[in-house]
Amino acid sequence: METCRFDSVRAIGFRLLFAVLCAAPAHAEWITETQNIMGTRCAVELWSEDHDQGEAAIASVFDDMHRIDRLMSTWKEDTEISMVNREAGKHPVKISEELFGLLETSVRYSELTHGAFDITYASVGYLYDFRKGIHPDAKTIKKALPGINWRHMKLDPKKLTVYFTRPGMRIDLGGIAKGYSVDRGIEILQKQGITRAMVNAGGDTRIIGDRFGKPWVVGIRDPDHDGQTFLRMPLTDTAFSTSGDYERYFDENGKRFHHIIDPKTGDSARKCRSVTIISGNATRTDALTKSVFVMGPEEGIQFIDTLPDVDAVAVAPDGKVFYSKGLAPPEPEGKPAG
Ligand code: ADP
Ligand code: MG
Repeated sequence: METCRFDSVRAIGFRLLFAVLCAAPAHAEWITETQNIMGTRCAVELWSEDHDQGEAAIASVFDDMHRIDRLMSTWKEDTEISMVNREAGKHPVKISEELFGLLETSVRYSELTHGAFDITYASVGYLYDFRKGIHPDAKTIKKALPGINWRHMKLDPKKLTVYFTRPGMRIDLGGIAKGYSVDRGIEILQKQGITRAMVNAGGDTRIIGDRFGKPWVVGIRDPDHDGQTFLRMPLTDTAFSTSGDYERYFDENGKRFHHIIDPKTGDSARKCRSVTIISGNATRTDALTKSVFVMGPEEGIQFIDTLPDVDAVAVAPDGKVFYSKGLAPPEPEGKPAG
């Protein structure tokens, strides 16, 4: 079984807590299974008329997540992405259509977010070890920092190759592959006729259908208290992701070093404590949590308000909560306009 990098911090469960509002009819069956895959806790919950079919559907989702991990994990030497990181600085490397597609998607998010989301963050990111409490010093960051820039990752769609034009460049899909695997999981379930389900991988979740006339209710974790939520939202047929500075981190002299890296500085992004994004698919919500985290709550929410299909909640270091237009609490009645 694969080692779970985040198990200790996630011991109590998911940062997103699911609460069932209504009891299902007596003969009805919700099935839930969890597994540790991609270095995190993954869960599938679905409604099935037939127990065996439901179990088989869940198994097919987990199988696919294992497959994605074997392609895209940088923690294993024999994955396609590890091969890219070893070779693409020397010559163009031919990769699978699937990996190529996700690299293209990643570049689109880098362009959309002006580089706040950038999988080449790993050119510096690999120098951190959050379990051992290790971070690179300023001189080491300065040397590796020019390697962070998605524009230096050349993708050839005809030949399906990737090439790094700078030495020392690395990529890591840790900020998008779980969302992608969740979208794949939902697709797999839908092909098997499932109409009510939730698929979750780490901070990334997508739900289809409702809970028999009631929405799914999800909570956003209080950044300082595992198991406590500061906001609960009713959702159906949507995806949502949360990124927090409490997932993989260590504190040193009052400063928190955590796994979301600001591509401009190579340092941990410290303008947010947590960011939640809601939109139609989990690849999108996964990529956008890092983006808003790096931009900070004000700029990040302004950016989200330019995207008609996306909503966001961002928590600032002082605990202030920022909402996108679609989620902003109504003004109290009687308050004068303007
Ligand atoms: P989870 O993987 O548990 O869902 P997140 O969605 O918050 O957690 O993703 C965090 C991961 O994103 C980091 O571990 C790292 O692999 C990746 N990452 C960190 N900074 C960036 C960035 N600026 N752009 C793209 N990916 C990033
Ligand atoms: Mg994620």
